[in-house]
Amino acid sequence: MISHSGAARALRVRALAPLFAIAVASLSAARAQSPEAAAPPLPVRVITGANVANLEGGAPIRNAVVVITGDRITAVGPAGQVQVPAGAKELRLPGKWLAPGLMNMHTHFGLELPGTAMLDTQNETDGELALRMAINARKSLLAGTTTVRTPGEQRDAIFGLKRAIDRGDYPGPRIWPAGAPIVPTGGHSSKPLYDGIDGAEEVRKETRRQILLGARWIKITISRGIASTGDIAAADMTIDEMRAATDIAHRQGVKVAAHTGSPQATLDALTAGVDSFEHGYFLNDEVFRKIKAANAWYVPTIVVSQEGAMEFFRKIGSTPFYLARVKMVGRSHWAALQSAIRNDVNIAMGSDQFPWEPNQGTVASIREIELYQEAGMTALQALRTATVNTARMLGAEADLGQVAPGKYADIIAMDADPTRDTRALRSLFLVMKGGEVVRNDLDPGSVAKTGIY
Ligand SMILES: [Zn+2]
Repeated sequence: MISHSGAARALRVRALAPLFAIAVASLSAARAQSPEAAAPPLPVRVITGANVANLEGGAPIRNAVVVITGDRITAVGPAGQVQVPAGAKELRLPGKWLAPGLMNMHTHFGLELPGTAMLDTQNETDGELALRMAINARKSLLAGTTTVRTPGEQRDAIFGLKRAIDRGDYPGPRIWPAGAPIVPTGGHSSKPLYDGIDGAEEVRKETRRQILLGARWIKITISRGIASTGDIAAADMTIDEMRAATDIAHRQGVKVAAHTGSPQATLDALTAGVDSFEHGYFLNDEVFRKIKAANAWYVPTIVVSQEGAMEFFRKIGSTPFYLARVKMVGRSHWAALQSAIRNDVNIAMGSDQFPWEPNQGTVASIREIELYQEAGMTALQALRTATVNTARMLGAEADLGQVAPGKYADIIAMDADPTRDTRALRSLFLVMKGGEVVRNDLDPGSVAKTGIY
């Protein structure tokens, strides 16, 4: 059971309510049982006619019945074996395909990148930033990404946004937030003169502060990146500083993600017990073997350095220096991804771009998955990086990552089986989060009338 979800808490409260009603009735025999004491039944919805993609490699469930009670899936099976409960609201999707909502483990809703577009956000107030992040969260959900991890956001706005989404005040994906990245002075940042966090004491204090605010992950930047100056292969953080972050975080069940391009920095971070490695532009077989041995995670964000990213960087007005840096990194980044696949490393999907960002005819989350397939994964393996694997990385396997009984009803629908070819994701037309249809291109009018959407 995950503790972050208001919906989950509500479900537990509702489950207890009938017991409470019985106790009241037996204590006060003279009084009729009050109808108010019984909790209203949870809404029951059912999806019929669609096929459920099998993420374990077996045959799909054809012509399935998916029963959803409240925000959870309660039954999945072939029609004839699973009954449609009386009174259930039915969503008929004959011949379509269902898969779990996509989970993107590396995105920043308040993303700023070097380019003329950055001038628009230069004087952004806290309120404007929070609104911009909320809009990106909503667009991400509608693009099929129902869960995100946000490794690095500004001015602590992500924590308030997460709470607003969990309460149902605003539509967006489930968020596993990190707060501001922990960057040493001169380290990876789009602001080269960044006054950073230096030494184990400062790292410990900042890690504690972020956990207090609600961070479920701590982001550290252990080398430079595309969006900064300086040598990407250099190791910027000391092992002592990295250990300070993992020590404090792990005491609270919080994990640590490291931005890295550098083999040396990554080897140091493995010594310090870092849990996930982001980008990995220059990582090689030796490093990936050690990541594998440590059972740590790799989040490629391959989409940021490949051909489709160039149109994006031109759009945001990036300088020639920056475009050259993307090109320079692209080839080794691709080789790193292939090395990770070859060495059977735990890979979780992350795009670094907004999940909804247009990229080569689709959106960044989907393009990222397609690129894994192009780099050598099977379609099934690639889809698992955004569903089964990501749920495991978050420690949320009980709740997320499968269209199966007990999980949240976070479901996407498309025209073909994405475990045979991930390009099927391009035909995505329907998104459901927690049992609520938030997008349905076949029947757009049905969506606007429900809940907060
Ligand atoms: Zn990033």
